[in-house]
Amino acid sequence: MAMPAEWEDLLKQTREIVEKLAPDAVITEIDFEGPLIVIYTKSIEKFAENPEIVRKLALSIRRRVSVRPDPSLLLPEEEAIEEIKKIVPEDAGIKHIYFEHDTGEVVIEADAPGKVIGKEGMLLNEIKRRIKWAPRVVRAPPIPSRIVQQVREFLKNVKDERRQFLRELGRKLNRPPMQGENWVRVTALGGYREVGRSAHLLQTRNSRILVDCGMGMSGENVTPYVNVPELWDYSDSARPFKYLDAVVLTHAHLDHCGFIPVLYKYNYEGPVYATAPTRDLAAMLLLDMIRVSYSEGGDAPFESKHVKEFLKRTITLSYGETTSITPDVRLTFHNAGHILGSAVAHFHIGDGLYNVVFTGDIKYEHTWLFSAAVNRFPRVEAVVMESTYGGRDDYQPSRKEAAETLKNVVRTTVERRGRVLIPVFAVGRSQEVMIVLENAMKRGEVPEVPIYLDGMIWEATAIHAAYPEFLNKELRELIFHRNENPFLSEIFQRVGSGEDRQKIIETPDPAVILATSGMMNGGPVIEYLKNMADDPKSTLVFVGYQAEGTLGRRIQSGVREITLYEKGMPITIKMEMEIVTIDGFSGHSDRRQLIQYISSMQPRPERVIVSHGEERKCLDLAYAINRRYGIETVAPRCLETVRLR
Ligand code: ZN
Ligand code: ZN
Repeated sequence: MAMPAEWEDLLKQTREIVEKLAPDAVITEIDFEGPLIVIYTKSIEKFAENPEIVRKLALSIRRRVSVRPDPSLLLPEEEAIEEIKKIVPEDAGIKHIYFEHDTGEVVIEADAPGKVIGKEGMLLNEIKRRIKWAPRVVRAPPIPSRIVQQVREFLKNVKDERRQFLRELGRKLNRPPMQGENWVRVTALGGYREVGRSAHLLQTRNSRILVDCGMGMSGENVTPYVNVPELWDYSDSARPFKYLDAVVLTHAHLDHCGFIPVLYKYNYEGPVYATAPTRDLAAMLLLDMIRVSYSEGGDAPFESKHVKEFLKRTITLSYGETTSITPDVRLTFHNAGHILGSAVAHFHIGDGLYNVVFTGDIKYEHTWLFSAAVNRFPRVEAVVMESTYGGRDDYQPSRKEAAETLKNVVRTTVERRGRVLIPVFAVGRSQEVMIVLENAMKRGEVPEVPIYLDGMIWEATAIHAAYPEFLNKELRELIFHRNENPFLSEIFQRVGSGEDRQKIIETPDPAVILATSGMMNGGPVIEYLKNMADDPKSTLVFVGYQAEGTLGRRIQSGVREITLYEKGMPITIKMEMEIVTIDGFSGHSDRRQLIQYISSMQPRPERVIVSHGEERKCLDLAYAINRRYGIETVAPRCLETVRLR
């Protein structure tokens, strides 16, 4: 007595409704593409003229629906590009045309989008009529990004495999749910009472969802506990992650995504949900992680083919877009204010059964780059939150004060003819430090000296420019004004090669050097440090979080004799340069902001689970929130499970 597959019924039902709503439309195919049901038709104009059809259909089958022209109607890409160029006037300044195979859209990047659209959309309609792809016009990003191009190119090459994957995923998503008692629980797989290797397993009767899957920064606790029986199928060594439905990635930092390619190495076949910039930034950082491991003589735990697998199976979501990711869980991302594309993940479970929010890393303050993290939701019962700066004394100065301190440090150092070395994450504070310094030099508040950017900072900046809709309003406007775009200023100089770096190291003139990695556990910053450490005129400035066990943390906490490696041989270095820590640039909320994030949350949650902080900070924050607001709080240890319902 085989149960009818839910998805078969659903497709049949969809067809019947479409035939009723649009009786004379020619439908060529109806199928799943991931969470969507896609209808291919030769009568696309019938649906375009009457948007009610799609609305009614989506309502009655309770799924997201997309109607697309039958592929046989679409003009081949090369010809479509030619047609577009014939229709659009030269002075629109078309920079790039690319095709989104996931959606049947053609994206036209131009300096003057209005001139592509034409009066009352006349040109756009003409384009649509002639090439049948759905045109979308965006302003051309002012800085080209190599990674964004490569990701697009790669997705184009694997479009058929990707489509196959999305169809199978749609069938899995629409499997009949198991009936019985409903429950929800969270298991701590990493990043609890510690910072690094963030991984949470959100489990219901019908779903296994991994929220983040990161790497530890150093020491022994590098890999998350993915081999727990809740997740790892011990009976199938070829496909141990067979029962994992989805990975939800909050942002691109390696302590959140660094272990995802390993899942693919072990033949995980499911999707990763992330925002588009998170996908691109993660690809960049993961590929760099492989490069860095090899260059330091080590072994990366995965290869570039596993990163490609991640790209092929990533489904991107915008902020505010709700999607079913399993038969009983719907996901919505919201802005987290932490880095480009970072998201707070809201899970709606079982048609009103329960709602849980994972903050990922959050900044609950409007910064030079982003708006403050979102803390309003339709419903929320539990929050799993970060606590990096949740400790009793973790109050940070305002961003304005932090900027003043930075300017002072640069001014003093330049005046005594020293150099300023700032270890930064490529993605995160470097763009913010760039904006502050550019502004200060333009206004003459600090002497103008070159600012060198070493280690993917430029590429990360370009990705910011490619996704303006993820930046705050002020920066979005600045970026598109050629004369005011802070990132295009001539004071920034990219360090493109090892020779470039050597030249800068050998030139003693005053300068500011931004170099990765942010916690000094590798990367080009080490090369500068070797050369500058013994120069008392120079200054080392920490602007970001330094995790326990990293070189940055050791120096920050006063160690003045350090061991580095030169061609594999240990060398001892005395730190004679000035060392300054500037709080207030952090992409993390400080204690006040973390507490405010919860206390002003709407609605107020019943329960808070604290993670992503050293033990003391997790406990401090859990205690404070409980005492002040009477909210039930807990700071689990790794491997503990909390039942939510
Ligand atoms: Zn982060
Ligand atoms: Zn983190």
